[in-house]
Amino acid sequence: MTGKTHISCGFLIGTLAVNYYHPDIFTSITTVVLAVAGSMLPDICHTQSKIGRRFKLLSIIVRILFGHRTFTHSLLFTLLMALLLKTIHTPEVYFTAFIGGMASHIILDMLTPRGVKLLYPLPLSVKLPIQFKTGGMVDLSLATAFTFGGTYVIFREVINQWLNQFITLPF
Ligand SMILES: [Zn+2]
Repeated sequence: MTGKTHISCGFLIGTLAVNYYHPDIFTSITTVVLAVAGSMLPDICHTQSKIGRRFKLLSIIVRILFGHRTFTHSLLFTLLMALLLKTIHTPEVYFTAFIGGMASHIILDMLTPRGVKLLYPLPLSVKLPIQFKTGGMVDLSLATAFTFGGTYVIFREVINQWLNQFITLPF
């Protein structure tokens, strides 16, 4: 999947987390940012990806050590990140957004013919029964659908909060 699809899916996951936990506005924005960051993180192994270009050196090191779509697209890496976030006492809403974003990335890549090394260090390529070409029509449609979905969830959340305020007015 393209970076756009991963980011838009992270955006949707972030808005859903906001919709579930109803945090304040600052926490809401941070939650969406963290979900998007989580959805980009696995591609740190790819020097030409959005996150790879930003953290070039780290990206090259990861690439040399593990190769593309291996360790950073595995259950092991997700588990290690989850443990790290728990160790530094990350609030639940941030934890859910970040790990949710990461999981969405791995699942989306499992929808491509190449699959991912989900069970790394086992050298097994895992993919879902249906696959789509990266950058193809389905990829683009997914990105659009996720963006619309996320925008809708935010819109509903804002309207709800506005209505709540209105209803609790003392008259
Ligand atoms: Zn990937």
